[in-house]
Amino acid sequence: MDLYDYNTIKRILTRHGFTFSKALGQNFLIDPSVCPRMAAALEADDRTGVLEIGPGIGVLTKELSAVCGRVAAVELDRRLPDVLAETLADCPNVQVVSGDVLQMDLQALFADQFAGCDRLQVCANLPYYITTPVLMRLLESELPIERLVVMVQLEAAKRLCAPLGTRDCGAVSAAVEYYTQAEILFEVGRESFYPSPNVNSAVIALTRRQQPPVQVTDEGYFFRVVKGAFLQRRKTLANSLNAALGVPKAELTALFQSLGLSATVRAEQLTMPQMAALANALYEKKA
Ligand code: SAM
Repeated sequence: MDLYDYNTIKRILTRHGFTFSKALGQNFLIDPSVCPRMAAALEADDRTGVLEIGPGIGVLTKELSAVCGRVAAVELDRRLPDVLAETLADCPNVQVVSGDVLQMDLQALFADQFAGCDRLQVCANLPYYITTPVLMRLLESELPIERLVVMVQLEAAKRLCAPLGTRDCGAVSAAVEYYTQAEILFEVGRESFYPSPNVNSAVIALTRRQQPPVQVTDEGYFFRVVKGAFLQRRKTLANSLNAALGVPKAELTALFQSLGLSATVRAEQLTMPQMAALANALYEKKA
């Protein structure tokens, strides 16, 4: 069964009475070159368990099934498991799990699905409306996920992979940089999907670090500072942190000076070591 073929897709979906839901980010891949490249980028083996988010009709799932030991594919749309039972009939190492990846108990899911696996990875053509919350959930979960290969909107890919201190960075870039080494692998044009979205996409790889690149006194507080810093991008860092954390501006300006930062510096100008030094100094003052 050629799941990249428009007529095949249409025939299967019509038979199951399926219509595309824009709200669920349903843009299915029809370019046969993309899924094999994503599966290969995982560097998985037969002892690897792979979580897929949003299998759709199973085009990427099939490729994952061929390169790893076990695939758990979480799908929110309750109309799709019947379709997947047909399209993945020849993939015995795949389990489709119905549910919302944002609500699911991930620890329990991994324990249930990947009991015999030594390595855990994630691969997905992510529904774009939940890119950031899904990635944040996975990164903060403390699950031993060693590598994530995911497709996201091109703009989101640039933001996610931007190191702190560079133009495209934001609060989510800090979390990605703190937990992983990130790279954009390749771009994917909008014509590679059906229905075709309005924007282009990119596949990124996030490889979990053994150690964070900086030492922070309190991780929770570090991320509160990061979120506060980027809350109002147009404002100076002093104004943003004053609004977000209630630290007096005079105190912030004095602190900036001691860290060699200008009084008018903006959040996106701080590198990861500078952001960590700032958060640690603020934490010390608070304690
Ligand atoms: N993997 C397929 C492909 O590449 O052709 C489909 C990808 S499509 C961009 C996103 C998929 O995620 C859809 O199947 C959609 O129903 C599913 N989805 C949307 N929100 C979800 C959620 N919160 N949890 C799990 N799956 C979700």
